[in-house]
Amino acid sequence: MVNTFSFACSACGQCCNSPPSMTLAELFQHRDRFIGCIAIGRVARRRPGEKLRIGRYETVLDEADCAAFDTLADTLLHRAGDTFSITAQGFDYPSLARCPALADDGRCAIHLHGKPLTCEVVPLDPLVPDSLQHLVLAERAQDAAYLGSACIQEGKRDDAALLVEQGRLVDRLARDALARRRRALEQERFIWTQAVFEALRADLFDSPAALARIPAGGFLTISLVPALLTVAAASARSRALCIDYIDSQIALIDRGIARALARRRLDDRPVTQQLRGFANAYRHAKGQLVDTLAAEHGNGNLSAHAAIETYLSQASR
Ligand code: SF4
Ligand code: SF4
Repeated sequence: MVNTFSFACSACGQCCNSPPSMTLAELFQHRDRFIGCIAIGRVARRRPGEKLRIGRYETVLDEADCAAFDTLADTLLHRAGDTFSITAQGFDYPSLARCPALADDGRCAIHLHGKPLTCEVVPLDPLVPDSLQHLVLAERAQDAAYLGSACIQEGKRDDAALLVEQGRLVDRLARDALARRRRALEQERFIWTQAVFEALRADLFDSPAALARIPAGGFLTISLVPALLTVAAASARSRALCIDYIDSQIALIDRGIARALARRRLDDRPVTQQLRGFANAYRHAKGQLVDTLAAEHGNGNLSAHAAIETYLSQASR
C-alpha cells in the first residue's frame, strides 16, 4: 500500500455544506453570522488488533497506535465509560446545505478574518494520530470525489502539496494547523467543556436512556447556554460579554426563523422548534446573568478569572 497523499484545495466550496465545529471564542467573534450550539458525540475507543479499513486501505492497530489515540482522548475528550467529544459548533437549517460563511461565489467570506481552525485543518482530523492520517485522507478522498472534487489524490502530484508520504505527515503547514487545533481543543476543555461535561454527567453521560439521544456517527446538539453560564461565572466582565453575545444570538435566530417560515419547508419545522428552544434558553440565561450583575454592582463582589475573561475579550474585539 502506498500510503502517500497529495492535496490541492481549489476553494470550490463543495465541502462547506454545513456550519463547522468552532471554538467558543470563534463563535463570539462571529456572533452575527453563526448560531452557536454544543455538539456532543461518541468517539470509539481503539483496541490493539482492531482493523481500520477504508476502501483498499487497511491497518491493524498495534499498542503504539492505541496509546496515541488514548493520549489525544485524555487531553481533548471526556470519558464516562465511553469516550465523548464536546465542542462548540455552528448550527443552521440542514435544508440550506451550506455554511453561513459560504459566499455566493463559492468562497469563504471569513477566509482572511477569523476562519475557524477546523476549516484550516481540512482535510485532516485532529482526533486521529499523525501516523494514521493517511486513513483519514483515504476516507475523505472518497467523500471529496462524492462531492465532485478531486482535491485529495493518492501519490505525489506536481500541482498539489504532498501531505503524507509513506504514512508520515510531511507537510509543515498541515502539521502546524493540526497542532493549533489540538491546542485550541485543549484550551476549550480547560475553559468550559470539562465543566459542562461534569454538569451534564448525571442527566446525560451516566444515563443510558439519555445517551441513546446521541445518534450513531452523529452529534446531539443542545443549547450553548451551559457553556455560557460556565464562562460567565468567571467575572462581571465575562457576564457582560455573555449578555452581549446572547442579544446578538437571539436576533440572529429570529432572522433565521423568519427566513425559514418564508421558505415553507416541512423538513425545516423541527429545526425551527429547536431554534425556538435555543432562544428561550438564551432569554432565561440572560435574566439570570442580568440579576447576578445587578447584585454584584450592589455589593461590590466583582470576582475575576483572568484566563477566561481574556479569552472572551480577545474574541470580542
Ligand atoms: S471540496 Fe476540496 S477543493 Fe473544494 S473547498 Fe473542500 S477541500 Fe477545497
Ligand atoms: S467557515 Fe469558511 S471554510 Fe469553513 S465551512 Fe464555512 S465557508 Fe467553508
